[in-house]
Amino acid sequence: MTNLAGTEIIERFTELRAKGKLAHAYLFIGPQGSGKLEVALSIASSFNCEQVSSVKNGCGRCSSCLNILSHSHPNVILVEKEEEKTQITIEQIRQAVDVLRLAALIGKIKVCIIKNAELLGLDAGSALLKTLEEPPGNTLFMLTTSQPQRILPTVQSRAQAVYFKPLSFSRMNKFLKEELSLSSEQAHYISYLSQGYEKRAVEMKEAGVFDRKNEFIDSFILSDSYDSRIKDLTDGKEDERLLISTLQAWLRDAILFKAGVEDSRIINNDRKKELGAFVLRFSFSELTEAYDETLKAMQAFYDNLNFRVALMLAKAKINK
Ligand SMILES: [Zn+2]
Repeated sequence: MTNLAGTEIIERFTELRAKGKLAHAYLFIGPQGSGKLEVALSIASSFNCEQVSSVKNGCGRCSSCLNILSHSHPNVILVEKEEEKTQITIEQIRQAVDVLRLAALIGKIKVCIIKNAELLGLDAGSALLKTLEEPPGNTLFMLTTSQPQRILPTVQSRAQAVYFKPLSFSRMNKFLKEELSLSSEQAHYISYLSQGYEKRAVEMKEAGVFDRKNEFIDSFILSDSYDSRIKDLTDGKEDERLLISTLQAWLRDAILFKAGVEDSRIINNDRKKELGAFVLRFSFSELTEAYDETLKAMQAFYDNLNFRVALMLAKAKINK
């Protein structure tokens, strides 16, 4: 899939490679969901793709691209923390380095991707460092992280930083409509909620977040006879988070709507009619107080505390 913020990065790598100016190691820095791993895999694909004419992202169909996508290509190594471990181990790094030292197929670059490189402990980091200092010929390291402050400084200083920037609202909107075929209403909502990160947007689309938030608006926010047992209203953690954020977005919208902002700044643009009727029933301070309760609920949710009290307080304030 085309990764828009990543597209520029992939193009840049293609240029650098053509000019023979690739460094040996890069550190991809960006929040979770910004598509760092996908971009690294795309770059690896483009360097190994058998379809010479489709170099940009790799064709995604040849045996080389398919092997990379399924993490089983001999020239592309993916190192990530094993499930039962707390860190990436020195054995994993040694193994990867051994493979890199084996002769690369003629003309192809060997790629080593290290996912969440902040999980490299001192031992593993030192083992990697040796290789970064004297890299075997024709190798490319791509490390990813959402926590650059936790990367070993010695590793960081030997890798060039690549920052993943979020897309602007209008670019994300265009991406959602043109690449993911979303309706204008859905694209508008997801553009707001994904905050510029395509991967997050794709996950939201796949999880059916747009329809679900509208169910919450009808069954919880606008309903007088809502079920007070939130557990019955939601299905799992992610759904609980969506319920809180739906109420939060609704109240934010209500405050802005009452203040007369333009339509494009309303998140729930698809529910403007209901929003208009809703705001007539409340004062600014009632809306603000309810909104503040949703902030507390969200904080409690992230702290793994009971968020339901604050959520019900927020609901009580708009339930007249
Ligand atoms: Zn290919």
